[in-house]
Amino acid sequence: MTRHLAVARLWYEANSFSPVIADRAAFERREWLTGDQALEAARGANTEIAALHDFQAAWPDWQVTVLRCASASPAGPMDDDLFSEFFDEVLDGLAKQTWDAVYLSLHGAGVTTRRARPELGLIAAVRNAIGDAPLGVSFDLHGNIAPEAARYITYASGYRTYPHVDMRETATRVLDRLATTAEGRLKPVGVVLKTGSLLPSFNMRTADGPMADIQALARVLESGRVLDVSAFGGFPYADTPDAGGTAMAYADGDAEAARNAARILAEDMHARRGEFDIRLPSPAEGIARALAGPPGLVCVTDPADNPYSGGIADTPALFRALLQARPPVPTVFAFFCDPALVDWAHLTGIGAVLDVKLGGQLSRDFGAPVEARAVVLRFTEGKFVNTGPMETGLAVDLGRTVLLDVEGIQVVVTETCSAANDPAFFALHGIDLGATRLLCVKAKNHFRAAFQPRAALIVDTDAPGPAALDLSTLPYGKVPMELRRVKI
Ligand SMILES: [Zn+2]
Repeated sequence: MTRHLAVARLWYEANSFSPVIADRAAFERREWLTGDQALEAARGANTEIAALHDFQAAWPDWQVTVLRCASASPAGPMDDDLFSEFFDEVLDGLAKQTWDAVYLSLHGAGVTTRRARPELGLIAAVRNAIGDAPLGVSFDLHGNIAPEAARYITYASGYRTYPHVDMRETATRVLDRLATTAEGRLKPVGVVLKTGSLLPSFNMRTADGPMADIQALARVLESGRVLDVSAFGGFPYADTPDAGGTAMAYADGDAEAARNAARILAEDMHARRGEFDIRLPSPAEGIARALAGPPGLVCVTDPADNPYSGGIADTPALFRALLQARPPVPTVFAFFCDPALVDWAHLTGIGAVLDVKLGGQLSRDFGAPVEARAVVLRFTEGKFVNTGPMETGLAVDLGRTVLLDVEGIQVVVTETCSAANDPAFFALHGIDLGATRLLCVKAKNHFRAAFQPRAALIVDTDAPGPAALDLSTLPYGKVPMELRRVKI
């Protein structure tokens, strides 16, 4: 008997404090595909949609229909008209036939220009459309999961790693349990509880620190009839009623067991909330610390402008500190997103000398531009395929890019804003990281997936930006009052 699975995907993390709306072009650059095109684009990649290839091989009786798959590099709120189009298209697709199961690959921290809880609305509408058919959902570890989602979802799970190297594995877990449920061999029931705390993600890696302990507890709680326990750190830059930590548990036919597991996890996460509050050095201090580090490549990150937290690759503080430090060593700065500058450089050509203003183009809120003289070194078409352990095999499109020399520092400037977390980003620009001493990069923890093994030292710093360390600087409107960090 052939069974039918429908799949849709909206993987988008929105920073409410970023001035850059995620429009159609932003999604088309990364993923705005359906059907075989979506499947083919994901073949061999370490992403959720790639897991569908594994599922088809493991479950030959199931026929998979891929509806709209949409993902974009994190930025500001998603254009609500585009979300409406996505929503209607998915609901139309679901209405075409009867489904034995539906899988949604979601992020969990989406916000649109008009909606604070777009994913909850989608989940509820999908449930309404498919009757009693099992609905499986996967979420990012930074999802701000709404408690009400448990009413509509049959089975869900979240990533267990940060950096996220288990996207594909997470989808496989959901798909296997979903098919088992559809075949009548499981009866999952779930609970989603908020932990009552807004957690910064600077100290949220799963290799060590509080999130490593929380994940270990989640694994211990998965016993007996408890099928899955997921801990979500949440995304504090999405200004929504659901922002903050979440504990979620699913058990086989035992709502009480699921509730107990979720409650124990939520209490543990709440008790550890202070461990997520850390202090970081200023950019100048961070550069000095890195240069005093062991031989080899040393890196300084600017997490407040990390594109994977909705950063805009436009804040100037780290670059200003770098120019002031003028380290006498091979140095790379990645990167500024400045389409006008890329255009100007392309018009003037290799070797041109330009008086440029770097950073502070989209917003002066995080500092004024840095004025400097730049020499145009190299152009690229901005396309590469990830080679590192995170999102391996994913095609990335930066738009056109230019490599500049600014007072001896190699500076990458791009047309669009996408993370510099993968070694292929640097290879594209002809940058030899083996010969580089200091790499200053707009990045946070995901950078470590590929660079922790390569770098002698990575120093995170605290600078102004849309994903700032100090949450008390953010003008929240929808996050519950009791969770907001208030400046004292
Ligand atoms: Zn994440």
